[in-house]
Amino acid sequence: SKNAGRSCFHVYSAELKAEADQRNVLEIELREAIWREEIEVFYQPVIELGTGRVKSVEALARWHHGTKGYIPPAEFIAVAEAGGLIVELGNQVLARACRDATSMPADVKVAVNLSALQFAGTNLVDTVTFALAQSGLPQTRLELEITESVFLADTEENLKTLQRLKALGVSIALDDFGVGYSSLSYLTAFPFDKVKIDKSFIDRVDRSETVAVLKSIVQLAKTLKLSIVAEGVESSEQVRRLQSLGIPLGQGFHFSKPVPLAGLSWQGPAARRK
Ligand code: C2E
Ligand code: CA
Ligand code: CA
Ligand code: CA
Repeated sequence: SKNAGRSCFHVYSAELKAEADQRNVLEIELREAIWREEIEVFYQPVIELGTGRVKSVEALARWHHGTKGYIPPAEFIAVAEAGGLIVELGNQVLARACRDATSMPADVKVAVNLSALQFAGTNLVDTVTFALAQSGLPQTRLELEITESVFLADTEENLKTLQRLKALGVSIALDDFGVGYSSLSYLTAFPFDKVKIDKSFIDRVDRSETVAVLKSIVQLAKTLKLSIVAEGVESSEQVRRLQSLGIPLGQGFHFSKPVPLAGLSWQGPAARRK
């Protein structure tokens, strides 16, 4: 059994090595894809539940790998962050999103996800300023989505950067709200414009415990003058429940999956259908 344990460890470490090698290959391929500007940007509409109108679109990175097809961002964003590629990747997505947004209706905003690591460099504010200037997109049409992780490291410095971003006139949304440990404190740490309630709450919106939590979030958002988006809305039953809770905005497969720029449709009723 001692031997078995040892060989087990052996297999395990070999597996780990294979996994690490695969990761390195992926990182090298990702670096090339970023270098060749092959990362695509898809858009998912955020819908005003009361009218069915598109209020904004969220930019979501897509990597179409030569042999593996589309690799999900959950996989390659982590590789980009670990490999020091996220700043360049993030800059490309931001620039593309701002450019694409200039061909969207003028009352539609574009939201771009920021990694906490993009705050580590000193020039995030310059990067955003440049992307706006280069595209000609008015600053009021850009929204930046951040998660709590921005508050975990270098809090003082990151808070300053957030304030400078907000001073540019762009809006700031707190993403994945509710899944962290102390979301409520982060909500009051900075004057966010919007809070995006994580899909895990929307999945359980038929439960009374979830309803109670959502009610208090709606109340808090009112007090803090924040807009609220429900993420991952998948059914008309959920839409009905969210509306009765007073949640004004929704995003999810019920309305549309993320699509290329050319696939977006702006008509209310069409956008409302699946
Ligand atoms: P996120 O910011 O929370 O984005 C929402 C994710 O939920 C997207 O996954 C979207 O496709 C998915 N989603 C939307 N509605 C539904 C629904 O009704 N049902 C289900 N099952 N899923 C839904 P996606 O595009 O795979 O992105 C995953 C995550 O990768 C994003 O989560 C975000 O954290 C990250 N990400 C994507 N693009 C970027 C980027 O350009 N920069 C950074 N830093 N992160 C990005
Ligand atoms: Ca997001
Ligand atoms: Ca989210
Ligand atoms: Ca997420």
